Amino acid sequence: MKVLDLACSRHHLFEGWFASEDDFVNQCQLGLVQCPVCADPTVVKKLSAPRLNLSGAREPQPSTPALASAPSPTPPARMGEVETALAAAWMAVARHVIANTADVGGQFVEEARKMHYGEAEVRSIRGQATLEQAQELVEEGIEVMPLLLPEALKGPLQ
Ligand SMILES: [Zn+2]
Repeated sequence: MKVLDLACSRHHLFEGWFASEDDFVNQCQLGLVQCPVCADPTVVKKLSAPRLNLSGAREPQPSTPALASAPSPTPPARMGEVETALAAAWMAVARHVIANTADVGGQFVEEARKMHYGEAEVRSIRGQATLEQAQELVEEGIEVMPLLLPEALKGPLQ
């Protein structure tokens, strides 16, 4: 037994049960196959793979007006785009910090202390410090902000 997806010339969709595809062709030639909706004898087999009809489910009716008028939701931004935007924002922050701070490199801890105790002009500096050194500065009441600069902005670029 074969279940064929069929369509009449008015695009009604229905299923037909036949012993074989040859049986379907023979019944069509004899005018025995008609659309169950409009009795149109012009019936063609849709180009879908034959399948066993175990559930008896019918093809869903095409287009429901309530759904057809619903606006399609805006597709969410893909993760790649979000990450690219975040990376760009982070680069902008990093460039801003670099543009507005003096690089004191390994002298960072020393310079930070001098500024804090009035031994050096107070300015914004950046440099390298270990986590321990940074914690010591914080305990002394010196404001430090950890900043991981993007690799692209490290080095001689000023
Ligand atoms: Zn029909």
